[in-house]
Amino acid sequence: LSKMSNEVEKASKAKYEKNTETIFDKIIAKKIPADIIYEDEQCLAFNDVNPQAPVHFLVIPKHRIPMLDEAKDSDSEILGHLMLVASKLGKQKLPKGYRLVINNGKDGCQSVYHLHLHVLGGRQMKWPPG
Ligand code: C5P
Repeated sequence: LSKMSNEVEKASKAKYEKNTETIFDKIIAKKIPADIIYEDEQCLAFNDVNPQAPVHFLVIPKHRIPMLDEAKDSDSEILGHLMLVASKLGKQKLPKGYRLVINNGKDGCQSVYHLHLHVLGGRQMKWPPG
């Protein structure tokens, strides 16, 4: 299987259970290791274990929002904060540019039901994405 179809397969098998913790909660709680590159009170950023570009990291809220479609009006501030943290890290690590991605739901290829921003770069990204 190519890397991409593997990700699609993972996403199609992922079960969305609204009240179940994911592996990202364990990373936030430092119960399992991750290559953390940034942390503050509200969010965490770490390198993706299965990078799709030379630089690929995730920015996640510490408070679990399962997916973008579950975000509430009261999440506006954290959603903005995640974007700004992605931009600060992106500018620093990828001065030539980068891409932000949020996968939402099965067709969006979401496999971990804890909202996360993908930041990808270090090569010329293509358009349209797959
Ligand atoms: O958007 P999606 O839900 O498909 O992305 C989940 C991402 O989380 C994948 O890119 C996967 O490689 C990454 N991951 C990780 N560390 C884990 C589990 C998943 O970086 N322990």
